[in-house]
Amino acid sequence: MKTEKLAPVFTDRFPNPMEEGRLYVSMTLAIAGHLCCCGCKTEVVTPLSPTDWTLIFDGDTVSLDPSIGNWSFHCQSHYLIVRGAVDWAPKWSKERIRLGRYRDRLAKERFFTGPPKDQDQDSDQPRLRGGWRSRLPRLQSGHKSGSTEKRRGS
Ligand SMILES: [Zn+2]
Repeated sequence: MKTEKLAPVFTDRFPNPMEEGRLYVSMTLAIAGHLCCCGCKTEVVTPLSPTDWTLIFDGDTVSLDPSIGNWSFHCQSHYLIVRGAVDWAPKWSKERIRLGRYRDRLAKERFFTGPPKDQDQDSDQPRLRGGWRSRLPRLQSGHKSGSTEKRRGS
């Protein structure tokens, strides 16, 4: 059964197994965890950091930004957690997933080591149709804008 709401549980010890309908948050470890909302019960662990997920707690409910894309799971589910409610998002194409992963890595590289000096050294980078290089100036303008686009899931 699909989970439609997630209630926050602030704890440094996530139960094993986690319960459905709960979003476990450890402020000490900067990590959140929940069971995949599609009902497949896969554990989804989301690190909280400037280049991973941002947790918003409004005193009652939690939101996670950007969306949760469970591409490595069989279910391939994709959803947002907004004020404790699960908002289902369209599945991404394989190409879209590759772009998202590439952008995440770019954001991490910028955050931890500064802007990459020579992107051609990275043989693992995706070769997207339509000239991915033309997207780079926009992608490099900041990971925050990337997050916003990610959330739209377009
Ligand atoms: Zn699932």
